[in-house]
Amino acid sequence: MTGIVITLVRGDITEQSVDAIVNAANSSLLGGGGVDGAIHRAGGPAILDACRALRASHYGKGLPTGKAVATTGGELSARWVIHTVGPVWSATEDRTELLASCYRESLRVADELGVGSVAFPAISTGIYRWPIDDGARIAVETVRNAKTAVAEVRFVLFDERAYTAFANAL
Ligand code: ADP
Repeated sequence: MTGIVITLVRGDITEQSVDAIVNAANSSLLGGGGVDGAIHRAGGPAILDACRALRASHYGKGLPTGKAVATTGGELSARWVIHTVGPVWSATEDRTELLASCYRESLRVADELGVGSVAFPAISTGIYRWPIDDGARIAVETVRNAKTAVAEVRFVLFDERAYTAFANAL
């Protein structure tokens, strides 16, 4: 077990004063809708430049589902953005392990960066349609059980429904 402190905030992840915020990206790393679009808009072009550089080097085929990689936070208050690719919800295939991997891998990258505080959105629960109660349960369980030196994880929930789901899971 770790001494990690988990907090919940209803709001916009781009406005959080933490060391790193996590982006629910898509595997292209070249931007999308939802929280991804909001992060690129708020952080400015430096984030997309860094993502393009990753595509040109280590991630020629894109970032695989369940993995995470860091870029600058650009003009955000957060110094870093950790991009992770959540699984698309499937009614016929259990992709829980991939969603859990997003949280674990993001915290592993955070440890590599040596950061103390990380904010997460509810990965996969928007455009990727993961049911919010289940997504919240997986998020909270995975972070609680993660071996990490990160001191604070803040879940930033965009709407009341997501906030309630995370509060119940916690
Ligand atoms: P995914 O493709 O992984 O489902 P989305 O960005 O569509 O990613 O949605 C993930 C979650 O992020 C959803 O619960 C959505 O409501 C939420 N979200 C969207 N914009 C923001 C934001 N600015 N800050 C925090 N959460 C957000």
